[in-house]
Amino acid sequence: MTDARQAALDYARQNNGRFLDELKEFLLIPSISTSPEYKSDVQRAAEWVAAQLRSLGMDNVQIMPTGGHPAVYGEQLKAGKEAPTVLIYGHYDIQPVDPIELWTSDPFKAEVRGDNLYARGSSDMKGQVIASFKAVESIVRTSGLPVNLKWLIEGEEEIGSEHLGEFIRNHAKMLKADFCINPDAGMINSDSPTITYGLRGLAYFEVRVHGPDRDLHSGLFGGTVHNPAQALAELIAGMHDKKGRITLPGFYDNVRKSSKEERAEIGRLPTTPKHFLKQTGVPALWGEPDYTPEERVSIRPTLEVNGLLSGFTGEGSKTVLPAWAMAKISCRLVPNQDPSEIQKSMVRYMKENAPKSIRWEVKNLNNAGAAITERDSIGVRAMSEALEQSWGKRPLFKREGGSIGVVVQLQKYVGVESVLTGFGLPEDNAHSPNEKLHLPTWRKGIDAFIHLFYNLK
Ligand SMILES: [Zn+2]
Repeated sequence: MTDARQAALDYARQNNGRFLDELKEFLLIPSISTSPEYKSDVQRAAEWVAAQLRSLGMDNVQIMPTGGHPAVYGEQLKAGKEAPTVLIYGHYDIQPVDPIELWTSDPFKAEVRGDNLYARGSSDMKGQVIASFKAVESIVRTSGLPVNLKWLIEGEEEIGSEHLGEFIRNHAKMLKADFCINPDAGMINSDSPTITYGLRGLAYFEVRVHGPDRDLHSGLFGGTVHNPAQALAELIAGMHDKKGRITLPGFYDNVRKSSKEERAEIGRLPTTPKHFLKQTGVPALWGEPDYTPEERVSIRPTLEVNGLLSGFTGEGSKTVLPAWAMAKISCRLVPNQDPSEIQKSMVRYMKENAPKSIRWEVKNLNNAGAAITERDSIGVRAMSEALEQSWGKRPLFKREGGSIGVVVQLQKYVGVESVLTGFGLPEDNAHSPNEKLHLPTWRKGIDAFIHLFYNLK
């Protein structure tokens, strides 16, 4: 181990009490992004972040306007052209605290109980942001940064990062980096450091089937008019085959293939079939038999009916043949599926399968691409090594079933891949009463960040 690295790790250990005090100070600011009455607190949190970045010796620190709450930027680009440039993403906004009566202590006056620090934003994600600040402080106070560094700390994550896409597109050059570290993803448990390297995308549809020009008397017309509810049910039923595969034409054409090695890594995750049964309460699992449940929610695309609407659904009975039926249908997409191609697949399926007895329309409501970060990239390698150095064991590698806007936008507009990690735990009550941060994990996280920067040297 280099002396510089060891000096930084020692500094972090010696100053941990003060790091915790500064985290508590940050947690005192109720930066709830969704509530207009907290607008000045959100601004105050942005200023607090900017002051921290300045105290770390960052240059060009700015509180930058977006269409909503500001984003904070800072950089230090003194490590030279050969050194990699790392972008660190975070958010300083938090979720509301209600129902307040379920909190054991004041959500803003952080309280340590046992190994945990209780406060809103402690885990999601002020604690993570402070971990990255304090790792950098430990390095700059003991030697110099071995990498070039950029920070993007936004204030609208908890309300969907509504204005961040435009901000990233407008500042693509400023945000250019070799990779982005996003510590908002957390870990599977305190003993299993985790790297998330892929996210699924989305294509969302509203499918409407029209029959007669009004609801009809089922005794007079049933059996001679194709019931739109039945026709829609038949179309939906045909969208999967008996093996759970999606039948839309061309649907799987661009699906990125997973290597044996990638599937073996996914097999190390503790999400067994039993886990899924326990999590959901269903009597049996369902899906493509050639893939494990974990693979089905990560490396495979899906098609789900989100909701159905047609005819009479009130109390009692009404013998009616409805005029129309509607379904909301969404597809979770994997790399390299293109949402607009999936829309074409949906329309082609309807053209090929809809009967002449009805009219239909498909509306595309929402599109998002999937994202993937190469596991054999400098960012993943350095972070993986760092987690192993801090925890003494290889991290787990995971692809997420959902989507995260900033990751997709950074990939799309800046060409920067994100390494998702973090030191939040599933039991931290993020977004719930009694949110907490597991302090021993947080301290290991600070060490991991210190290792990360030296691993990139
Ligand atoms: Zn978060």
